[in-house]
Amino acid sequence: MAIISSNIDDNDFSLRKKELRLVDSKVISEEKRNNLNLVRPVSLKEFIGQEKLKSSLRIAIDASTIRKESLEHTLLYGQPGLGKTTLAFLIAKEMNTKCRVATAPAIERPRDIVGLLLGMKEGEVLFIDEIHRLNRLTEELLYSAMEDFRLDLTMGANRGARCRTINIPRFTLIGATTKLASISAPLRDRFGLFHKVEFYTNDELKQIIINFSRLININLDDDASYNLAKISRGTPRIALRFLRRVRDYAQVVKKTNVISKNLVNKALNSYQIDEKGLDSLDRQYLSLLRLNNNNPTGLDSIAAGLGDDSSMIEFVVEPYLIQIGFLIRTPRGRLLTDLGKKYIDSKNDNF
Ligand code: ADP
Repeated sequence: MAIISSNIDDNDFSLRKKELRLVDSKVISEEKRNNLNLVRPVSLKEFIGQEKLKSSLRIAIDASTIRKESLEHTLLYGQPGLGKTTLAFLIAKEMNTKCRVATAPAIERPRDIVGLLLGMKEGEVLFIDEIHRLNRLTEELLYSAMEDFRLDLTMGANRGARCRTINIPRFTLIGATTKLASISAPLRDRFGLFHKVEFYTNDELKQIIINFSRLININLDDDASYNLAKISRGTPRIALRFLRRVRDYAQVVKKTNVISKNLVNKALNSYQIDEKGLDSLDRQYLSLLRLNNNNPTGLDSIAAGLGDDSSMIEFVVEPYLIQIGFLIRTPRGRLLTDLGKKYIDSKNDNF
């Protein structure tokens, strides 16, 4: 993250692309360090958007409360930054219970998941993020834990091995994944509720931005919040990150907490984000394709040209360019659309 020095001016404010992309929907280290991601809505009502998901969750929560049962295991899937973790906390809150949090890559050994499950109390929620990344042994232990609230453990080795069964409290597992297809069928089948978390509309993002701006004490006008919403790729995490960077700019460069549309544009300019929400890596990508004229270009050549790895290009850069109609993927390679060409031709100097 760029360090903000006291004698900063508009031009110093840019970020180097390799350090951080403001438009990346994954959590970045600055957010983890400062717990910025933890500024979350405190009730389902405050959770903006996802109306269908919220109303079916509401019914499931009320039904299990009436029956005095724990909620069925729930799988939330959708892109990073859309609110899966937030929903898990809200579900626990609505169920009047605690939410324990783990991420699948951190559950390495069988004893990690056993420890987690033995520590659960009746009715509590266990949230496992990136659940598609669980290893096989952990997954197998989860099967009986989810189905029968029982742990089947093997103690000792070889001939001396014995099986032991331990009953565990009835808990609710909430799994979150960005890759539904990577979850094995036996694990998937043990979830009772499935919810897709969708991208947000501009109006919903605008509301999220307005609510958050109140929390961090800045005064944002209507046009300014809509402008931010428009370029946030349907993703609250990106919207809130933009908002924090705009606040930095406003407070450090302009010495104000009042943010207009004009100030938003200036701030984003200083971060090299343009009116479409594209950053310098997006534009370099488009320029490279433009140089190839109308020839389809393979992903590996693009990655080599940009000096980035191909999966980052494929999963992080391209989806949004496709979504806004600048790019198409063909069997022979990537191609710019007329819209994409027009856009990149209008950017004369790489911003
Ligand atoms: P995920 O787990 O899907 O990656 P998070 O739950 O961590 O996403 O959400 C990212 C950020 O966006 C958090 O700061 C969260 O408070 C905020 N956020 C996500 N969805 C909403 C929403 N519907 N309303 C308000 N804030 C939201």
